[in-house]
Amino acid sequence: MPESESHAIAIIGGATAGAEAAAIFSSQGILTVVFEQNATPYGKVEDGLPKWHLELRNKEYGLIDAKLSQDHVHFVPLTGIGRDIELKSLAEEWGFQAIVLANGAWRDRLLPLEGADAYIDRGLIYQNPYIQWFNHCDEPNYDGPEYEIVDDTLVIGGGLASIDMVKIVQLGLTLRGLRERGIEEDLVNLEVKGIPATLEKHGLQWEDLGYKGATLYYRRGIEDMPLVSMPDNANDKVREKIQKSRLRVLEKAQSKYLFKVAPLHAPVGLITEDERLVGIRFARTRLEEGRVILTDEEVEARAALVISSIGSIPAAVSGIPMRGELYDFQDWDLGRLEGFDTLFSAGNVVTGKGNIVDSRRHAKKVASHVADQYLQLADVVKRKDPLKPEARNAILKRVAEQQARVNYDGDYRTWIGAARSSTDA
Ligand SMILES: Cc1cc2nc3c(=O)[nH]c(=O)nc-3n(C[C@H](O)[C@H](O)[C@H](O)COP(=O)(O)OP(=O)(O)OC[C@H]3O[C@@H](n4cnc5c(N)ncnc54)[C@H](O)[C@@H]3O)c2cc1C
Repeated sequence: MPESESHAIAIIGGATAGAEAAAIFSSQGILTVVFEQNATPYGKVEDGLPKWHLELRNKEYGLIDAKLSQDHVHFVPLTGIGRDIELKSLAEEWGFQAIVLANGAWRDRLLPLEGADAYIDRGLIYQNPYIQWFNHCDEPNYDGPEYEIVDDTLVIGGGLASIDMVKIVQLGLTLRGLRERGIEEDLVNLEVKGIPATLEKHGLQWEDLGYKGATLYYRRGIEDMPLVSMPDNANDKVREKIQKSRLRVLEKAQSKYLFKVAPLHAPVGLITEDERLVGIRFARTRLEEGRVILTDEEVEARAALVISSIGSIPAAVSGIPMRGELYDFQDWDLGRLEGFDTLFSAGNVVTGKGNIVDSRRHAKKVASHVADQYLQLADVVKRKDPLKPEARNAILKRVAEQQARVNYDGDYRTWIGAARSSTDA
């Protein structure tokens, strides 16, 4: 075990993965500084998980809060790396012996249709800003982009997040339809009970509301939807079992939320009118040995709104080398980047797996490696002596200066209490 605070590590991003890494470092007496771009450190738990997951959200908030308020952990909110502090400066000038990137995946993968981006907010919306709006739009201080729940929405996707998109539309339409009839229902109850049961309670059926509803378009078959994860080396029996579970998950979601699904449709073109996107042209597809093959059959799907939900990728950060749309990791296991000897990555930024359990598990592995192996045993570290007291104080001085710049006085619980009460609707 390193002597208390004889080593210092910076973590970029304070959510599930960052907080997990911080807890592991702090338990080893390592001075741990967590830089978070937002006022609160909840990441996709706050802005991915839809707001009806009240219990899970509060549980995860609690876990993150507990980990970030441990001894040896210094939280630096409202500080984006690449935005307020350069990554290179953090790696080379601040005096940290290691950096852990835990900044998640916040950029929407672009819809692969030429010219699509010209229609953003003119008939086309991407998943990440839409869910952020949905989760926060009722808060008194919300000042982000404004969207609406629109009948006849077309969602392109296939993963769990895309199911959330069609659910948002269906639940929102149901609440609106009930409100127009003088009935107030609660989003959380509606999500738990489902649309048919809730409407039935009021003597109504979905058809009575007169909506077209939301449709999910997916380029593969329903059994291929990654709604239940497939283990890497699954044999035929396991594969078949997982495929059946996927069918069941979708069937259950459709029976509760009544959205439509069009599998085996790949987007191939835009339908535009008066400078607005009014639909998507799809090619029907078939699968050959797992590959998607476009057939000659095309379908025009018109819609009032198109939501693209085809995956989230890490946002570009100045200084981080990219390969295509992803960071150019040399080692995808520990998230190592060329040119940054002391940098590791944890969670969704490197796994690409959009779930809390995977982010936490990966962060645990990376942080344990960094704490146990890298800081003490690896060759690099033999060149890295423990921090001298003056070096530790120099880091703490810079941390305190940055905290002062964003008006954070070092009291995590008070800061979080204030940040959360300002968002309570
Ligand atoms: C619509 C949707 C629904 C989901 N539903 C579920 C679900 O039901 N169950 C489930 O398990 N998972 C779900 N997930 C996924 C899950 O929430 C995430 O995969 C997981 O929380 C990722 O954790 P993370 O710590 O790796 O990344 P994130 O939560 O993305 O955290 C990254 C943190 O880094 C910060 N950051 C980013 N860039 C910088 C920077 N440059 N400088 C400083 N800070 C930075 C961010 O603000 C954020 O706090 C859902 C996701 C979405 C989008």
